[in-house]
Amino acid sequence: MNVAGIEVEPGRRETRVVDVPVGERTVPVPIIAVNGAAGGPCVAVTGGIHGAEYVAIEAARRVGMTVDPKTLGGCLVVVPIANTTEYHKRSIYTSGLDAQNLNRVFPGNAHGSAGEALADWLFRTVMEPSSYYIDMHGGDMIEALVPFVLAPHCADAAVEKASLEMALASGIPRVIRSEVAGSTCGAAVAAGIPSILAEVGGQGVWRETEVAAHMESTLRVLRHLGVVPGEVTPVPAQRSYDTFAWMRATAGGLFHPRTTVGDRVEVGQTLGVVADYFGETLQTVEAATTGEVVFLVTSLAMNPGDPLLAICA
Ligand SMILES: [Zn+2]
Repeated sequence: MNVAGIEVEPGRRETRVVDVPVGERTVPVPIIAVNGAAGGPCVAVTGGIHGAEYVAIEAARRVGMTVDPKTLGGCLVVVPIANTTEYHKRSIYTSGLDAQNLNRVFPGNAHGSAGEALADWLFRTVMEPSSYYIDMHGGDMIEALVPFVLAPHCADAAVEKASLEMALASGIPRVIRSEVAGSTCGAAVAAGIPSILAEVGGQGVWRETEVAAHMESTLRVLRHLGVVPGEVTPVPAQRSYDTFAWMRATAGGLFHPRTTVGDRVEVGQTLGVVADYFGETLQTVEAATTGEVVFLVTSLAMNPGDPLLAICA
């Protein structure tokens, strides 16, 4: 096994921080490479594509550092903090390398902005050489959410089916068949690599219970793929959704939500208000569809164009 120049013998784990060139500078990217004693597929796992999604970062790191190379079938490449710049800046939405969201610029561009160059390196070095790819996320510093997993659509029916099976295997209760343009998992499935994007935790906290749940969801997928030994037991309460409706602010000011994550809402229901600095209503936020609120921006500060919440249905 060789990833990013790291040679790993069968039955061994190696860790290294790789300096990745992005334009005029380099950024450090930590890599955990595990080569199983037995053969099997290679699976890539990333955390920290968004640097303040701490549950995902901590869970990805623990998966990479605790799987047993002696019993692993295949290989595992974990990048626990894909964007260390955003992580250390404790920044949200933008990559810290440029003004873009890193999860909107995949598969990247080696000759583009610093964020696009990082995406290109991650895609070519970590994702493209793998047979399957799991991207671990959560709510950002100002987002509450209930756990959900995205299974992207794909022109290749076999890749779409394999991605959906990974999402179901995760045991995460809400499986949403959707993707976002320029996302990690969207780029992966377009390249023929079955992929999911799993979201647990949020608001800049990392509770042990949520870290354990996110870790277990990834281990379940690794068991399903035969990389980690063990059976995958079905989760009876799991449900699939085809609609992932985002609502955005049309005005800047103060956001006063009148709903919370996990609420069932009806189409047209008032879910919150964006007000000016003195409390006058600038925008009444109405539910675009009937369904369940899966994420909610919890910051009072609101800017035009920012996401407010999303409903799955
Ligand atoms: Zn994220």
